[in-house]
Amino acid sequence: MELPEKNIPTRALVVEKPGSPFILQDVTLDEVRDNEVLVEMKYTGLCHTDIVVQQGLMPVGDYPAILGHEGAGIVRRIGRSVKDKSLIVGDEVLLSFSSCGNCSYCAQSQNGSCPHITAINFTGTRLADGSNPARLHDGTAVRSKFFGQSSFSKLAVVSETSILKCELSSEEFAIMAPMGCGYYTGAGTVMRVLRPKQETTFAILGMGAVGLSALMTAKAMGVQRVIAVDILDTKLDLAVSLGASDIINSGRITSISAAIKDLVSEGVNQILDTTGLGFLIEDGIRALGHGGTFALVGTPRPGQSIAIDPLDFFLSCKRIIGVIEAASNPVQVIPELVDLHRKGLFPIEKLSHLYSVNGLDQALVDLKAGTVVKPILSWESV
Ligand SMILES: [Zn+2]
Ligand SMILES: [Zn+2]
Repeated sequence: MELPEKNIPTRALVVEKPGSPFILQDVTLDEVRDNEVLVEMKYTGLCHTDIVVQQGLMPVGDYPAILGHEGAGIVRRIGRSVKDKSLIVGDEVLLSFSSCGNCSYCAQSQNGSCPHITAINFTGTRLADGSNPARLHDGTAVRSKFFGQSSFSKLAVVSETSILKCELSSEEFAIMAPMGCGYYTGAGTVMRVLRPKQETTFAILGMGAVGLSALMTAKAMGVQRVIAVDILDTKLDLAVSLGASDIINSGRITSISAAIKDLVSEGVNQILDTTGLGFLIEDGIRALGHGGTFALVGTPRPGQSIAIDPLDFFLSCKRIIGVIEAASNPVQVIPELVDLHRKGLFPIEKLSHLYSVNGLDQALVDLKAGTVVKPILSWESV
């Protein structure tokens, strides 16, 4: 593919203003700056966060916007000062979130805990000067560094900190795009933050891509007792096929904590919440056993409040932790997940369904209905 140095034409899914649909249209990309990489997208996973931002429910960042933060593509151009000198044009790359690379957390490979993470990823502009690489035909700037990538675009100018080089078969490449966010978040939180032992009792609230990845990882680590909670039987059936020891349909009960304590009377050691729903979190916390940990992984909607008894928390040595992007470095975690997948221990092919970019509307319908856990868009026809 011959590309001009500047004013690179491409097509992207643009959200004009909060609540507007994703519309595939022509955009123009600036030159690739020294610390950026031009990537031709092959696949992009669709994550709930994209929909939350499309609907205008995240109060950070401007519109029009190109979203998408689970890209997988081919390197087409490399900025002069990109640190990974092994990267060459033609390499296959998976794209993940961006971090500052300079703070104490980034220095310790805890990039997910980088204090600048919200600003960098949601503001979605170049950190250096707040500019955007993409613009519409009339010259309007478009938010186009969402999670360092804005990968709902055939070609994207990607921050070097979002790039992960990998060697994958074509079958693997077609299902790995969500490694950068959904699968990584669930799996990385279990591997790097919760670190359950085989005898740990573990409950997961919500069987979306994050919850199911957490489940697969816990099973790969040998955890015997994993309780899956969801409102849809189809997802609970999938959870059973992936090794859940117990399932709870939260739509058919009045109390999740009571249902969990029916299974493990002293309460469970660890709970991972992917829903961000205050009433579920408040009830779920009551199912924690002594010394238990409750991890918030799903982004709670703003303005919710929950009641917690501090004396109970003190006397029972419990803790609640917020975990963003697994508090880890995807460059280290994702290769481990690829390995697990090759061993058959991380069967992500059971979660995803491939759509053409033109089939996005159907993908959104299927995601909402829960008939597909993880839609992946193919850019082949664009
Ligand atoms: Zn940092
Ligand atoms: Zn995401």
